[in-house]
Amino acid sequence: MLFTDLGLSESILRAINEEGYTSPTPIQAKSIPAVLKGGDLLAAAQTGTGKTAGFTLPILQRLISAPVTGSGKRVLRVLILTPTRELAAQVQESVVTYGKYTGLKSTVIFGGVGANPQIKAIAAGLDILVATPGRLLDLMSQNCVSLSAIEILVLDEADRMLDMGFLRDIKKILAALPKKRQNLLFSATFSTEIKALADGLLNAPELIEV
Ligand code: AMP
Repeated sequence: MLFTDLGLSESILRAINEEGYTSPTPIQAKSIPAVLKGGDLLAAAQTGTGKTAGFTLPILQRLISAPVTGSGKRVLRVLILTPTRELAAQVQESVVTYGKYTGLKSTVIFGGVGANPQIKAIAAGLDILVATPGRLLDLMSQNCVSLSAIEILVLDEADRMLDMGFLRDIKKILAALPKKRQNLLFSATFSTEIKALADGLLNAPELIEV
C-alpha cells in the first residue's frame, strides 16, 4: 500500500514525501481510513509503530476537507491529550511537520513552564491544541481556552494517563466538550480501567490492533 492510496490531499502527501516515508505502517494503513470515515476509534498501539502519524495525518485531512467558514477567526477543532510534556511536544512536532503545507495552526501546552506564552498562542487562534490534562484544566479555569467547537478528541497513551492519575482531570475535560464529536483512543494496554473509560467515551468504535 502507498500513502497516495489513502485519500490524503497533495498538501499532506508533500510533507510525508519530504519526511522520506514511502508506505504507511500497519497501524497507519488501518487508522487513516478509519479516522477519515469520521467514526470513533479504539487502537492498541505501542510507541514506535507510527501511531502519531496514524492519527495526525487523517485529522489534518478532515480539517482541510471541511473548513469552518464564517467569522474568519480560527476555531479550535481538535484536542489531543497526552500524559507527559515530552509526548505532547513530540506530537505537536508531528502536527507541525505533517501540516506545514495545510495552513492549519496548532500549539502545545503543558505544565512546569510559564503559562503566558501558551495563553498568547491560544488567543492568536488555533485549529489544533496538544495538551497535558493538568495545564489544560488550569487554562480552562482561567477562561483562556474554549473547547466548545471541538470536533475531534484524541487520548494518546491513555493507559499512561490513567497510571499517572489523570482520570478525574480527563473526566472534567470531557464534560467541557461538545457531545457530538469524533473520539480516538490510543493505548498500549487494555486494563479494566481503560475498557471502562473506552465504554463511557466511545460510540461503536472501530477496533485496531497491530
Ligand atoms: P510513533 O510510533 O508515532 O512515535 O512514530 C515512530 C517513528 O516512526 C517516528 O520517528 C516517525 O517519524 C516514524 N514514522 C512514522 N510513520 C512512518 C512511515 N510511514 N514510514 C517511515 N517512518 C515512519
